[in-house]
Amino acid sequence: MGKLQTLDEYLAENEFLRETAEFHLRLEKILSNVQSLDLPAREKVLELVNADKIPLLQRDDFRKNFLDAVNETLTKKFPEQKISPELAEKLLQQDNHAVNEICASSELNETLTRKIFWATVDKLVPENLKRLERDDWSENFCPICGRRPVMAQLKKFNEGRARYLSCGACGTLWHWRRTSCPYCGCDDLEKIHIFEFDGKLTIRLDVCDECGAYLKTYGEEDAENIYLRDWATLHLDLLAEEKNLRKCGAVELE
Ligand SMILES: [Zn+2]
Ligand SMILES: [Zn+2]
Repeated sequence: MGKLQTLDEYLAENEFLRETAEFHLRLEKILSNVQSLDLPAREKVLELVNADKIPLLQRDDFRKNFLDAVNETLTKKFPEQKISPELAEKLLQQDNHAVNEICASSELNETLTRKIFWATVDKLVPENLKRLERDDWSENFCPICGRRPVMAQLKKFNEGRARYLSCGACGTLWHWRRTSCPYCGCDDLEKIHIFEFDGKLTIRLDVCDECGAYLKTYGEEDAENIYLRDWATLHLDLLAEEKNLRKCGAVELE
């Protein structure tokens, strides 16, 4: 297997992902002509969220306007899904109990609802807010939407590499102290393990014995378009599940 650069090449080599890929690519296509919102400049956003550690979209002064735009897009692009403004608000606030209840009582497929909602959020957040540098933010949750990371990436920095966390919901990438577990904060190196797959993959699992969570970590910097899409390495989640490891941060999970 040579180095894969395009998603098409990758999917040709990983035929079992075809159906999952078609679903996600269709979602992206439906949303492709949606414009991102005019949110405050990056410096302003960082100043705000760092002052009280409340993520941008969870702030009272932003949430309402942002949700209005989400609801408008959902109505236009996904009319059959019937995600009500109330449900959208609960999804954004991560009120899982309310989300469960509303989906059950409206007979909505919760996984599909969550995927559509967060894909819409991702699309509405401007790209320039999603690429944060080393000292921009240091928490273990996303500065934009507040969710836990779903993946990580190692990027070259001086002689070594720095670790960045990736939000599976809104697509933000932010720096994280390299050795500790982003889910429970454990920094006992005896308890953090790296699980690598034989030779071929540029993804590894960082496993924490303290909380049992794992984090799929992409070790290179050229094919984010493949390896930072959570669904594109679904097979690694299945392997992790066989090892009784716990996945965190995925949009379809609570
Ligand atoms: Zn986010
Ligand atoms: Zn942990």
